[in-house]
Amino acid sequence: MTEDTMTRFMVGCCPCCGQTVTLSTPAETRGEADAMATMECTCVNGEPVSRQANERKMLQEVFPDISPEAGDLLCQVADMIRSGDLYSGTSIKVMENVVAKFKTSGAAVVVTRVEKREHQRSI
Ligand SMILES: [Zn+2]
Repeated sequence: MTEDTMTRFMVGCCPCCGQTVTLSTPAETRGEADAMATMECTCVNGEPVSRQANERKMLQEVFPDISPEAGDLLCQVADMIRSGDLYSGTSIKVMENVVAKFKTSGAAVVVTRVEKREHQRSI
């Protein structure tokens, strides 16, 4: 297993600023190392990239069943709410019974998955 560890990438190059970043966890490939470097880099250009990647990941966890295009849209909406182009309380119907609701909490944008399902039983 030692050789295996040796071939892993401990540093990546942030494509946003070109500086090398020592990774907190080793990457399997050069590309992965660079992607992780962007995430861990503290440069000004890399910050929005890593923030958006984190948002995308977070949205995928909440909405694992929507298309990547819809995911892009939700990211954009979050950005627009942050910049004041849209307002807190905006909601988007992403599926027949699922609504993504956006609200602000301090500087953060909170996305809630609202599922409308009626559970009715005859007894
Ligand atoms: Zn950087």
